Amino acid sequence: MKYIFVTGGVVSSLGKGLAAASLGTLLERRGLKVILQKFDPYLNIDPGTMSPFQHGEVYVLDDGAETDLDLGHYERFTSTNLSKLNNLTSGQVYMSVLTKERQGKYLGNTVQVIPHVTNEIKQRITDVAEKMGGDIIITEIGGTVGDIEGLPFLEAIRQFGHEYGRENVLYIHATLVPYIRAAGELKTKPTQQSVSKLREIGISPDIIFCRTEQPLDLEVREKISLFCNVPIEAVIEGRDVKHTVYEVPLKLHEERLDDLVCERLHIVAPQPDLTSWRKFVQRVINPTHHVRIGVVGKYIELQDAYKSIYEALTHAGAANDCKIEVVRVDAEAIEKTGSEIYLAGLQGILIPGGFGDRGTEGKINAARYAREHQIPYFGICLGMQIAVIEFARNVCALAGANSTEFEKSTPHPVISLLEEQKRVTSKGGTMRLGTWSTELLPNTKVRGLYGKDTITERHRHRYEFNSDYKENVESKGMLISGTSPDGNLAELVELKDHPYFVACQFHPEFLSKPNKPHPLFDGFIKAALHHQTAALDADPS
Ligand code: GLN
Repeated sequence: MKYIFVTGGVVSSLGKGLAAASLGTLLERRGLKVILQKFDPYLNIDPGTMSPFQHGEVYVLDDGAETDLDLGHYERFTSTNLSKLNNLTSGQVYMSVLTKERQGKYLGNTVQVIPHVTNEIKQRITDVAEKMGGDIIITEIGGTVGDIEGLPFLEAIRQFGHEYGRENVLYIHATLVPYIRAAGELKTKPTQQSVSKLREIGISPDIIFCRTEQPLDLEVREKISLFCNVPIEAVIEGRDVKHTVYEVPLKLHEERLDDLVCERLHIVAPQPDLTSWRKFVQRVINPTHHVRIGVVGKYIELQDAYKSIYEALTHAGAANDCKIEVVRVDAEAIEKTGSEIYLAGLQGILIPGGFGDRGTEGKINAARYAREHQIPYFGICLGMQIAVIEFARNVCALAGANSTEFEKSTPHPVISLLEEQKRVTSKGGTMRLGTWSTELLPNTKVRGLYGKDTITERHRHRYEFNSDYKENVESKGMLISGTSPDGNLAELVELKDHPYFVACQFHPEFLSKPNKPHPLFDGFIKAALHHQTAALDADPS
């Protein structure tokens, strides 16, 4: 097993996760088994309790782990299926150390950051290696070199290199090489300083990955090479990509990053087969068609809050030779003005997951607009609950129907808590999480899209469709088209008299891959294209 550690310097948001994932793509396509993992220095046990405003999307794994969104990149860019072992936070490390301390496992010793905390961190690397097997493990360290809270992680990976030998361990440091417009120059000083900060800790990076807006010319590369003590071929340009993040592996291959890594780690592996990846990128960059999809949410101004949804739309777009223009619509704005000015003329409306009642009336309004105007609708998690509430109120005439999440005393709790969830008081890992099976009803839209009777999908929610209302909504045309195997929980709903009105209680966006679009996203984009053609036929002007 070989080990690669990816650290970051100068600023956050350098795209370290994407770089790590892209290296994973290249090595995997050279025939190697690659594992990716992320270490996050914050004290939360996991990001499940953090607001999307602070942390972006919470990415959910099969085993129900609520993780950093970088794990989404790892799963999309490689074929690995990750588990809770692949995301470690300081919170988890300290919890484990302190639990052992209370159990007397340290036999009277003073418990310290070195060695107890660092051992715990190193243990996680070997645990993952043992459990998952493979050729290479890439570990990304969150945060920026120089952060106080990141120190135990950096010390642990320093020790790891010392123990496992330099032919088995490689350090990649990602930095920013800013372009100073007034001087017309790229500046290497921040990189030099962040590398020297890393050296103070005892880590000499083998490869410098330089994020930059402009090409790194020879002179800049030479300077970085000299000051950072790496050969010139180990200065890798990470220029902003023009069209899509899926170009990054191709760019890094042009920079010969994967050759360098193999050489350094004494790995003999053929050149990567990037044929299908290139084709996918071409389809993203040069599509024939173009649709506009409205995403109506609460965290709409944040780039990262619905990351996996945007990626899943891109995958489905590529599969249908279609550019997806995402129109971000703030649900609260709809509450003030109504849907028409935001949603008219769109080819599809998607309502993603969410928590709390802010903006829900706007979302309900948007779902109604999609239903009444026969615009393709795709509801995900909260987006399904919204669809049910809207249908109950406006079609079943259940005035005041709502979810008990938003209104405890609603006369018609069409969405409510199961008994077992009512007893839960603590937050963090207490929702219905991870993979659950769903049985699909024959002769439904979703059964056609999936092409099979039983599916498994990832979940992250507390509230459920209240089955007391099943007969009522079904008699009016909203079908429960997928349920849990015991038939008790509604997993999917669809409208009979609508070209595409599909909503699911789970999160399909976590299972979409570049060359394998998710069936529900694929169906949604096909319906959007249809909607466009139908509209053009009706009004060719
Ligand atoms: N807030 C809703 C629930 O807890 C929906 C959750 C979600 O969209 N992820 O059930």
